[in-house]
Amino acid sequence: MVTEMNSLERVEASLADEKVDRLSTFPLACGVCRRLLGDGTTLYRDWATDPHVFSSSFIESRKRYGADFVGGMMDLSVIASDLGADVRMNDQNTPFVDGHNIRTLEDYERLEIPEIGSGRAGVLIEGTRQYAEALGREAFCSTFIEGPLLALSQTAGAEQLFMDMFTDPRPIHKALRLITEYESGIVEEFSRIDGLSAIFWNYLWGNYSCLSDSEYAEFEADVYAKELNDLTRRNGLAVAVHNCADLPHLDTQIRGFKASVYSHAYYPQVHRSLTASEMIDKGYCDDCLVAGQIDPQIFMRGTVEETLGTVRDLCQNVKTSLCKRGLNSRYTISTGCEIPPGLGCRMDNIQAMVDAVRLYGNMYRWTYRSPIE
Ligand SMILES: [Zn+2]
Repeated sequence: MVTEMNSLERVEASLADEKVDRLSTFPLACGVCRRLLGDGTTLYRDWATDPHVFSSSFIESRKRYGADFVGGMMDLSVIASDLGADVRMNDQNTPFVDGHNIRTLEDYERLEIPEIGSGRAGVLIEGTRQYAEALGREAFCSTFIEGPLLALSQTAGAEQLFMDMFTDPRPIHKALRLITEYESGIVEEFSRIDGLSAIFWNYLWGNYSCLSDSEYAEFEADVYAKELNDLTRRNGLAVAVHNCADLPHLDTQIRGFKASVYSHAYYPQVHRSLTASEMIDKGYCDDCLVAGQIDPQIFMRGTVEETLGTVRDLCQNVKTSLCKRGLNSRYTISTGCEIPPGLGCRMDNIQAMVDAVRLYGNMYRWTYRSPIE
């Protein structure tokens, strides 16, 4: 019999595929949690630029919903901003790059990195410190950062970068080397944070729709990602990967990277996109805690009942497949990507998702307790 666990115990047991009271859960509720603060009118620009506002939203979210993971994803323009790209800050939506600062091959070599701890990465580090120190003893606290190739594509523009990669890869490698150096310093800062358990690397370009194995190996996997993953582990943090692309390089990013956690999405209309059960059946959960794969759009368009039903079905499929594979707990009920942070997001569905995992994710009937306690 497995007695009720706290969130940290549950995730740690799941990482080791030990028996758990119920499946763990990780709704990727990030920017949307600004709406939990005060009278609900906190602006996105304040959330993304003030470490206290950023951290308070995750602390409030944990109090409100009680999800097992805490994951502080800010947005995908943090590093690009620090490298000099123009980032537009919005009142109610995700900041995004609206001015690339690489136009010629020479521009890659002109990039400069700021002091570690300044710039937007500094806000991310300090905000992460605050919520991890507050929550790290009860929940599995993680942070998110763009992988080097994503950071560079945000700085140069993806189209430009992919053309330049084939024209002359040398300046691109110089820029990727510089970004890796910057991110190594950021990893060192994260490793000093009490209560932080993992770094999620946004390695989104490991996607067969864009890059082959050899291209991805050359421009991220075998060099820059390898170094950053090794450094993450050497510093006592778990290597986690978020890749919500349609055709992720699963063998490289799960098996090659030896990821401890892998967050993925499912695209029903894409042939070869894998369901949770297929991920388990094909062995991707044998050594890695895989997290997925609820469509974030349900938080915009679905009712509470539809959310409960979707999560219930996923829990049932996952439990059946884990059992078939001889696994105990190595799948986390999560969203395929960030829950839409705009004002149209139905916050009740976040509660419904966590409640449904409490209700339907229990592995042993006799330990079931009502979510309404
Ligand atoms: Zn994503």
